[in-house]
Amino acid sequence: PVIADLLYGGVPVLRQSLIRLALWMADYYLTSPLDTIIACLPAAVRTTVNDVAELNSFELKSAEGKTVNTPLRRSILQMLVNEKKLTLRQLQKRLGKKQLYRTLSELEKGGYISLQKKFATTRPKQKTAYSLTAAPPENPEILLGNAPRQLEAYKALLTLGDSSGFAEALGFSSALLNELVKKGFAEKTTVDIRSNFRNTYSESPKNPERPTAAQADALSTLGKAVEKQQFNTFLLHGVTGSGKTLIYIELLKKVIAAGKNAIVLVPEISLTPQTAGRFRQHFHDDITILHSAMSDQEKYDAWHSLRNGRTKIALGARSTIFAPLENIGVIIVDEEHDGAYKQDRNPRYHARDTAIMRAMFENAICVLGSATPSFESYQNARNGKYQLIDLPERIDGATMPLITLIAMREAPKATASISDRLYREIRKRLEKNEQVILLQNRRGFAGSVFCLECGHTPVCKYCNIPLVYHATEKQLRCHYCGHTQIFTEQCGKCNSTRLFYKSSGTERIEEELKTLFPEETILRMDIDTTSAKGSHGRILKAFHEKKSRILLGTQMVAKGLDFPDVTLVGVLMADIGLNIPDFRASERMYSLLTQVSGRSGRASIPGEVYLQVYNLDNEVYRALLDGSYKKFFEREMTLRKLLRYPPASKLVKFEFSSTDEKKAEEAALSFKERLETHLPAEKVMLLGPAPAGITKLKNRYRYQLLLKIFTGKLSPAFIRHHLDALLASYRNAKLSVTIDVDPQNL
Ligand code: ADP
Ligand code: ZN
Ligand code: ZN
Repeated sequence: PVIADLLYGGVPVLRQSLIRLALWMADYYLTSPLDTIIACLPAAVRTTVNDVAELNSFELKSAEGKTVNTPLRRSILQMLVNEKKLTLRQLQKRLGKKQLYRTLSELEKGGYISLQKKFATTRPKQKTAYSLTAAPPENPEILLGNAPRQLEAYKALLTLGDSSGFAEALGFSSALLNELVKKGFAEKTTVDIRSNFRNTYSESPKNPERPTAAQADALSTLGKAVEKQQFNTFLLHGVTGSGKTLIYIELLKKVIAAGKNAIVLVPEISLTPQTAGRFRQHFHDDITILHSAMSDQEKYDAWHSLRNGRTKIALGARSTIFAPLENIGVIIVDEEHDGAYKQDRNPRYHARDTAIMRAMFENAICVLGSATPSFESYQNARNGKYQLIDLPERIDGATMPLITLIAMREAPKATASISDRLYREIRKRLEKNEQVILLQNRRGFAGSVFCLECGHTPVCKYCNIPLVYHATEKQLRCHYCGHTQIFTEQCGKCNSTRLFYKSSGTERIEEELKTLFPEETILRMDIDTTSAKGSHGRILKAFHEKKSRILLGTQMVAKGLDFPDVTLVGVLMADIGLNIPDFRASERMYSLLTQVSGRSGRASIPGEVYLQVYNLDNEVYRALLDGSYKKFFEREMTLRKLLRYPPASKLVKFEFSSTDEKKAEEAALSFKERLETHLPAEKVMLLGPAPAGITKLKNRYRYQLLLKIFTGKLSPAFIRHHLDALLASYRNAKLSVTIDVDPQNL
């Protein structure tokens, strides 16, 4: 539990999670020897994860003619005689004994039983290839003189090595290569199939960049820390376009030159092909890029190339934090504020927090980078836990984009979603052959209500969180505390009946754009247009090559894109994201709007940003116009402290789900009552039960309890004594309970 405690940023989680984590890693990389995975974990975690072995199963080999001397051994063998095969779990249950592993291993060593590993060894896939024989006939020019294609193939074998690398590309058939075998030039061999990350998106290499003074300063601080080989965490707070990527690259060069390895985390690899491409350009075969579209074989190769030291840098999304590298010098978490770092299903972990812990285990440094750090990280930097490095300016004196709000209530509209003003501004850019990115934020429009006249959204009077519309009961409900009120189709503030409470799609806006700009090709990037493999890359490539000058998309378009000709960014319905029922809504929105604004005017032409808004006097817009993250943080933190939301507290979410709605709700309620009797009231508070954000999922009803921990943390002893036992008495076939520490989505 101590380790779990550390791994999960100060709040203990159950040991079970770690075991699942290890198993899942094994699955992920498809490597068999579990021992290998365990071996490359930090020593402290290793012992816990060794328990994974419990999931292996045992089979009776031969007990004939052998005698065993203890009753326990005899019982085990007897059971295996009857049942042939049992898992350790089953054996433990039947014998009512936990410590069996040693006995079983001894029985295995004695040849009584055999152990079947859950993970069988996966070998690299192989294929037939041709290579030159050890002593090919001399005078190939003469011998193959009348077969020019065979001569070409021979020469290719001579210069390029075995045929696997070129046969297909150069069109040498196996019939042709077999001729070379017959004539004694070549022989058949088998080679491992190697696969490599190929980006569907690529751009021509940029000119080499020399670090600016600000970048050099940051680098020198980080470089010194790496040399010290002492754990430390840095928060690189650099505005969009301040050149964080170059800092990462130069730092990695230093780390590699010092003979060390590195891990680089990015939120989602398919959304940031440019970043991946830039790292590839610098590190070529020294880097392994892990991504979700990898085939099993590719995963296998990736794992082994890291394990064997063939590559020194692992770059990828959150699970890359488990890359089997040793001797790590730095772990970089780019866009550390991104919600994608949290895994919301089992095993639940936050890759950023895990990165910090892993860096600590390895005496490495951890670098968190962002233009809009998460409040948790910024708070840690302010109280001295992390070292803050500020990069307040863009590269080459490029100016920050100018942000303008368009008040949608009064604004004349060109179409339903696009104001006349924005339309005219887009026109202007197109006339100059510049490019435009339009964002329609759709995420998390989880059913809160929004008045199209005055921008009002009803919120819970206890939690200050938007209420969510439930169609069946015609009710508004708070997903934190469960408060409900009747829904009327009328705004509570201005009495308008123009309420908006259903999602609005990018597809419809695409149609509107087509009528406004019939001569333009519109690129649309959302869930629907990017479901096919490589489609992100294709869309971005088309935009990069200026096959289109308008890119419309969901928040996907906000991430890390760097196109010099984009001079205008428009956000169509900026308010949507502010109304999601989540205490982080403002933080997320500030971050999203900053990120998407950051796509504008990155090169010499100054950029502009237009936000179409209803709720003009929202804090977030004021903060954006203000341009000061720090001020925004300070203002928001007063609210968080008042309502005791993270980072002013810690949250743990308990979720009860069942096909029977009553069961789920009742269990949550009774769990709450029992838990309350064990918890120190001055330190914690329990909210709920309330229906979860999505109340019914896959035919199961979900209710949640929120535990707010104000000071300190729950002791591991508490977890061991109470929580484990408590939960065990609730979990059953009809009801499942999950615990989410530091939940990101509520
Ligand atoms: P960030 O990630 O901080 O938003 P990037 O790393 O994408 O910023 O850099 C912004 C732009 O500035 C990129 O086009 C990059 O190529 C360019 N750039 C970064 N550092 C330098 C430098 N030292 N000299 C010239 N151009 C640079
Ligand atoms: Zn209203
Ligand atoms: Zn509430």
